[in-house]
Amino acid sequence: MQQKIHLLEKEMPTSYYNIQADLPHPLDPPLHPGTGQPIGPQDLAAIFPMELIKQEVSHERYIEIPEEVQDAYRMYRPTPVIRALNLEKALDTPAEIYFKYEGVSPAGSHKPNTAIPQAYYNKKEGKKRLATETGAGQWGSSLSLACKMFGLECKVYMVKVSYHQKPYRRSMMRVWGGEVVASPSMDTQAGRDVLAKFPDSNGSLGIAISEAVEDAAKRDDTNYALGSVLNHVLLHQTIIGQEAKKQLEKVDRYPDIIIGCVGGGSNFGGIAFPFLQDKIGGKKLRAIAVEPASCPTLTKGQFRYDFGDIAKMTPLLPMHTLGHAFMPPAIHAGGLRYHGMSPLVSRVYLDGLIEAQAYRQLEVFEAALLFARTEGLIPAPESAHAIKAAIEEAKKAKIEGTKKTILFNLSGHGHFDMTSYDAYLDGKLEDYELPTEEIDRALAELETYPVIRN
Ligand SMILES: *Cc1c(COP(=O)(O)O)cnc(C)c1O
Repeated sequence: MQQKIHLLEKEMPTSYYNIQADLPHPLDPPLHPGTGQPIGPQDLAAIFPMELIKQEVSHERYIEIPEEVQDAYRMYRPTPVIRALNLEKALDTPAEIYFKYEGVSPAGSHKPNTAIPQAYYNKKEGKKRLATETGAGQWGSSLSLACKMFGLECKVYMVKVSYHQKPYRRSMMRVWGGEVVASPSMDTQAGRDVLAKFPDSNGSLGIAISEAVEDAAKRDDTNYALGSVLNHVLLHQTIIGQEAKKQLEKVDRYPDIIIGCVGGGSNFGGIAFPFLQDKIGGKKLRAIAVEPASCPTLTKGQFRYDFGDIAKMTPLLPMHTLGHAFMPPAIHAGGLRYHGMSPLVSRVYLDGLIEAQAYRQLEVFEAALLFARTEGLIPAPESAHAIKAAIEEAKKAKIEGTKKTILFNLSGHGHFDMTSYDAYLDGKLEDYELPTEEIDRALAELETYPVIRN
């Protein structure tokens, strides 16, 4: 029996799968933050290259992966699918558990899958420089690497508290040639305004987004890049699910259940959408998006128009949201602390094509340790949410006595998250479930913004 299923490089998919071609209900358009009217390509052209804007609204089913991007992917793709045999044994389950391992990329997660094409299209359209924000540093490091590959400069506004708490992600960005500043910084008007009022500000993702967008909007040679949420990002990540499908075919399997963690939704969309194409066509399968109980966007948020950032600079997107003013608690899965959700993932959730589950951080770390102690790999705390759900489904299969095939996405390794593992092992981590009043308060702020017809 084959425990690791590999694809040859020549078997790597050559197109992205665009689920917009198959959605039962099309997406509602993004709205201009000022006027509330649907935005057009021109509104985005100041900060995004035209090719990505086209992908954002395209209804073409397959979009070709440029040769140069395929070449760059071959640095670490195809990634393996691995059967978690030792975990199955530990759980004494009749289920087969497979995981797609995206931690083999140089940055240690799935994020280079979109950083690479984004850098490529920007380079091709004559840009010299990209600006972005990063929280825990996973996106900033992926974009720094991608920019280096295509000869672009990269400026990363890193949330100040992470800048000091996650020094090694910062080092990775610098190794790959990225310029990192703690946000709020003196480099932008947005940063200077915050610092004038709050000289000791620890920063937030919202402030960092404002700084990066301002940087990109002001400079002709610079564009902005986002690592999750947007349609083109999920499109790029579908290389994960397409590869996984081919890999399971090689061992004559098709998943009954597909699982991914969700922050902005990109790695989940990436693994699930190529299978949802079959589900829309009539095939039976379940897809489960897993989020933290402390940031329960799908399970407790509302589907409505909201801003992508606290500063209300981004377009209004139709998505599940806890409200742009929502301040997620400082849980250790930093990449899952986002108030909103990808409009595509929101749409398929609304249409009943996927399910959502929320877990608390202690049970998630417990699952992470079981996985690390059986399969060896130390998962990113984000990815451990998917592991927790996979374990629960494998336990259910045991009770039911059914031989289910489970596939989950291991979106990244946890080598830069060892302080949170220490905190867990030292008994210093606590569960936090979001009080309903706090969600209601953040959502109440949205009442003046347009509602969706559904
Ligand atoms: C960023 C990140 C996530 C969350 O982002 P999505 O867009 O929801 O995928 C999950 N896992 C890892 C390892 C990450 O770096």
